[in-house]
Amino acid sequence: MNAADKYEAVIGLEVHAQLQTNSKLFCGDSIAFGAEPNTHVSPVTLGHPGTLPKTNKKAVEFAVKIGLACNCAIEEKNYFARKNYFYPDLPKGYQISQHTTPICKGGFVSIKTSEGEKDILLNRIHMEEDAGKSIHDVYDDFSCIDLNRAGTPLVEIVTEPCISSSEEAFQYITELRRLVRWIGICDGNMEEGSLRCDANISIRLKGEKKLGTKVEVKNLNSIRNVKKAIDYEINRMIELVENGGTITQQTRSFDAGNDTTFAIRDKEEANDYRYFADPDLTPFHLTPSYIQSIKEQLPALPQQRMLQLKKEFGLNEYDAEQLCDEKATAEFFIAVAQHTGNYKAIANWMLGPIRQHLNETHATFDHCSLQAKTLAALISIVDEGKVNFSVASSKLLPVLFTTNAHPLQLAEELNLLQVSDTGELENWVNTVITNMPDKVAEYKKGKKGLIGLFVGEVKKLSKGKADPKLVTELLQQKLS
Ligand code: ADP
Ligand code: MG
Repeated sequence: MNAADKYEAVIGLEVHAQLQTNSKLFCGDSIAFGAEPNTHVSPVTLGHPGTLPKTNKKAVEFAVKIGLACNCAIEEKNYFARKNYFYPDLPKGYQISQHTTPICKGGFVSIKTSEGEKDILLNRIHMEEDAGKSIHDVYDDFSCIDLNRAGTPLVEIVTEPCISSSEEAFQYITELRRLVRWIGICDGNMEEGSLRCDANISIRLKGEKKLGTKVEVKNLNSIRNVKKAIDYEINRMIELVENGGTITQQTRSFDAGNDTTFAIRDKEEANDYRYFADPDLTPFHLTPSYIQSIKEQLPALPQQRMLQLKKEFGLNEYDAEQLCDEKATAEFFIAVAQHTGNYKAIANWMLGPIRQHLNETHATFDHCSLQAKTLAALISIVDEGKVNFSVASSKLLPVLFTTNAHPLQLAEELNLLQVSDTGELENWVNTVITNMPDKVAEYKKGKKGLIGLFVGEVKKLSKGKADPKLVTELLQQKLS
């Protein structure tokens, strides 16, 4: 047995999600990403004496939304606390957070694993404000501070130590990112820091109940890095223990240059944050009817939608999964399905030519210029044999994206209707037979597979308009 097989990994993730509000958590400054440094910095953000914070209602609403979407219990009585520490990008000298009273408790997020579904249990979701940014790579001799981000509303989503592998962690964050985007509370953009993850990792002997000493890898900024950091840590800790060492509780950082982690501080250096309720902010109480009204506004969630696409519309797992990658995509499907019953064709069109066209034009289903009923009409004329699929997707679709004309009229105008008039078909068929005497001879000697070649030639000759079924029949007649 491999030494490593004696151990199992235990992982808990803390994910910070920036809420997509217009303004900061306690003042009216914009939270737009990428602005000139220090342009969204009112006296409240700068922590000037005498300024007073005021809680952003939208941020509270968004926190409740994610809580409900994750099956949490919503706390009615909430207050904010000050977490005191010194840091250059923290102008007030404290961060406003929720210490002992997270707005959401418990809950879970279901993920797919190789062994089936698993519920990743949540400990809590709490609200807090973000800090500013220290920038060390502009000047050699000193650092820069950008306080635009300071005061941006965040929720921190904390799991129980119940994740058992880097693969599960990967699935969990992927699912969580889909969820926050789906309900519109966070853009989920990890590169811009809208979603950041700290991974807590420990190992223990299989069968052991007690948790091992954990290390925390901070600020992972992509899902792949979360996976890599976890894999690296598990191996490092197993090797350490196998060689007689002991694991110390540490905070570590991930080096994306060589996929390793390095220690930044030990437990003994941990801060004493001296938490206390922020006296400048009144506690905020949520009524059951307020919570209920938010619940009623929530859209059908991704896993519900997937189930619906499979059960109600008969789609397979793959199509349902792909169509539920984003809410706008799923909703487009549902919209088209109001106009045609050929659900499989909708999926094929959306995941094939339409997605390709959107990618090429840097558009999304969110802003899809093709209307649902135009697509439905296009599907109908293909089903009725009036145009074939390849003509419809290569010639009609690009025009429909800009005009939303009636597909049948457009096909007529462009002279693309499939020809099933036998006279015209016969001309094409005869031409092909005359042009390919050698192949015709081979066919007659028994190489029946050549029929495909002949049909293809007729198709070319007719510029895609010949009805392939009729052409095949005609060819078979003439060559027999
Ligand atoms: P801290 O006070 O150090 O932040 P918490 O108890 O709040 O620790 O837990 C932070 C995160 O670490 C949670 O996601 C939790 O599930 C996880 N965690 C706690 N103990 C362990 C452990 N021994 N191994 C792995 N993860 C752990
Ligand atoms: Mg922590």
